[in-house]
Amino acid sequence: MNFQKFPKIDLHCHLDGSLRAQTVLDIIKKNKIQSNLNLKNIKKQLTVPLNCSSLEEYLKSFNLPIAVMQTKEDLERVSFELMEDASIENIKYIEIRFAPQQHKKEGLTTKEIIQSVLSGMKKAEKLYDIKGNYILSCMRHLSAESAMKIIEEGKIFLGNGVVAVDLCGEELPGFCHKFIQPMKKAKDYGYRITIHAGETGIGENVTDAINLLGAERIGHGISISNNKKAYNLVKEKQVTLEICPTSNIQTKAIKNYKKHPIYNFYNDEILVTLNTDNRTVSNTSMSEEYLQIKKAFNLKKEEYRHIYLNSVEAAFISENEKQRLKKYLK
Ligand SMILES: [Zn+2]
Repeated sequence: MNFQKFPKIDLHCHLDGSLRAQTVLDIIKKNKIQSNLNLKNIKKQLTVPLNCSSLEEYLKSFNLPIAVMQTKEDLERVSFELMEDASIENIKYIEIRFAPQQHKKEGLTTKEIIQSVLSGMKKAEKLYDIKGNYILSCMRHLSAESAMKIIEEGKIFLGNGVVAVDLCGEELPGFCHKFIQPMKKAKDYGYRITIHAGETGIGENVTDAINLLGAERIGHGISISNNKKAYNLVKEKQVTLEICPTSNIQTKAIKNYKKHPIYNFYNDEILVTLNTDNRTVSNTSMSEEYLQIKKAFNLKKEEYRHIYLNSVEAAFISENEKQRLKKYLK
């Protein structure tokens, strides 16, 4: 199977983890951020190896991307380029997430930040056969007030390129409790909700994300394999898991592709989708993720189609848009 040619959907892709190295170099030079970097050492700083030591080390690769995403022009550019890269490998729909809180170092407002990435996305939608939406991620090491602020300031973009909120960053046990109020508000405003949870071993966070925060989808969620209560809840409530295999290996959540629980989940009728997480940090693509899962589990064409359809159903889009995505399979 040539996955490059197959239509694909990515529901879990971070903007700051998916920058082109050349673009990072261009912006560093243009904005005079650091003078001692060249393409080779930038690539090294942006990407982690499969034998990365932990989620903490993985998260360090975001320092440089964040540094070059501080102006309207640069935010628009990286958003456009991610859409372009995705369309080149035949991704038909993508939900890109990013944390506006990270892009205020040069004084941009939340509104300007969101406007800029949306502008890049819309430019690409006009040029290529791809559609996208943004998910506003709130950093969970920051306060509930900070998350609330993003939710308040982002709501004017609902229905116009912003569809959901997320919580991301380092995962601590019980993190959901802090964000009950902001997520309730988000739901009232009409945001859809997906939460990073159960990424590196804490299955209980998945239960909390669903029960306390109303998560409709879970980013990763792989730790449910060690937590029966969380597992049963995900299954019973038909919560979709956004699975990102390469990232899971790099953060040491999973030993190798063959040990990944995705196929067991799939066979047990848990709703799984396949996603990239971070195209640059993980040096991956949707085609590569499918390829690795095919190699590990001898994925059949029918199974690829099933996973694609899971993504269609879980996407935060209208019924009409879902129909458009289903047509690509025919
Ligand atoms: Zn993620």
